[in-house]
Amino acid sequence: MVETHKVESLTELNQKLPELQHRNFRNDDFWKSIPGWANVTREEFADHMWQQKNSIRKIEQVRKVLGKLATPELMADMEDGQRKTPMNIRITPYIFSLIDWENAWDDPLRKQFLPLGSQFLPEHPLHMSDSLSEDEDSPVPMLTHRYPDKVLFLPTTLCPVYCSYCTRSRIIGGSTESVDKSSYGANQKKWDDVFEYLRNSPLVEDVVISGGDSFMLTPAQIKYIGESLLNIPHIRRIRYATKGIAIFPQKITSDHAWFKALCEVNELGRSFGKSVVIHTHFSSPREITKWSQMAMERIFSAGITVRNQAVLQNGVNNDVSDMVLLTRKVGFMNIQPYYVYMHDMVPGCEHFRTTLREGIELEKAVRGTTAGFHTPTFVCDLPGGGGKRHVASYEYYDEENGISVWKAPYVKPGDVFTYVDPIHKLSKEAQDRWQDPATAKKMIEEAKKKVTG
Ligand code: SF4
Repeated sequence: MVETHKVESLTELNQKLPELQHRNFRNDDFWKSIPGWANVTREEFADHMWQQKNSIRKIEQVRKVLGKLATPELMADMEDGQRKTPMNIRITPYIFSLIDWENAWDDPLRKQFLPLGSQFLPEHPLHMSDSLSEDEDSPVPMLTHRYPDKVLFLPTTLCPVYCSYCTRSRIIGGSTESVDKSSYGANQKKWDDVFEYLRNSPLVEDVVISGGDSFMLTPAQIKYIGESLLNIPHIRRIRYATKGIAIFPQKITSDHAWFKALCEVNELGRSFGKSVVIHTHFSSPREITKWSQMAMERIFSAGITVRNQAVLQNGVNNDVSDMVLLTRKVGFMNIQPYYVYMHDMVPGCEHFRTTLREGIELEKAVRGTTAGFHTPTFVCDLPGGGGKRHVASYEYYDEENGISVWKAPYVKPGDVFTYVDPIHKLSKEAQDRWQDPATAKKMIEEAKKKVTG
């Protein structure tokens, strides 16, 4: 059976989601439900140094802080997860203690950061470690230049948390049992080559500083990168990408040196008439608490714009009520809901992916629940480097076999791109067809032919 998402009627939606629920921001001492942190004070929890020092990086630490909540079955499954995932463990106490450990198997936050072996599915035959072909479009190390006026700069491969759904699992964090990585940390020596390339690329106006995560850059590095880019005359817009606001808001409220560096770059940008913004990614309304709101109050009052990019994940946020609540909550905090991405076809993520149809139906359901400028655009970042396209802008969609065919006329004229639905969501007959490589190849060729003629 193909699982799709029914668009709920407004009455159904409002019954599940009272209209003002998005204004409730959790403010209890939720970390005290974790046995190992039962005596941690609010002051300690608010300190970014405490959060960093107590971040969980090993299964043994999970067992230790959870105490009696760490059941043998759960821990065995988590250990199995570590053998299969391409990502290291790293999770802040903030997010760790928002997990409902009594219901850990189904918890959307646990799913994102602490994978269980039992949740993994066989890889789709078309999965790729560099699904977006970022390495192919890289003129100098750490830089992807695909669109004429925009580049992606990856100055670090470190993050304050490691997400199981990471699209750059090939380089982010350290090697794991299943993947050897060419992770480079924050290799500042090579950044100047990137700036030199950009000085000589007059069409580039927009730089995304990602990674990795800008939260892992030092204040001096935040300033060095920001000033170097803003001093290039044709660069008009820079965006620091960080999941930090969602998973580590205490850094914004208590790491004053880091925040000051960001504000100084923002002020420099304004003095040059250029834009400096943050792109963050909240993916579940459960990640949002009073701590997130306090972080956003500080950022907003410093005049810094924040936009949100969520990743659509099966069992995490592929539900109309959750997506509407997420959209309204981030909007209420003055974050612009910008994109919801279809999950990329990367290793270790088949269980996270949804069908394209689910993305389309969720977009239909969310649109109209709040103002248009606060409504995210649902996009599919085309495998093979076609860039982001609106979910409904495919050229052809064979829903039975889960194959959609796309064009990106400006980015790669003449090319066609294929995005595939996860096999486990297809009918039994379609699942059988994918098991035979010759039949699978024929299905893909036939779908492409519908577009190329
Ligand atoms: S924060 Fe971003 S780059 Fe880092 S692991 Fe998560 S998805 Fe990957």
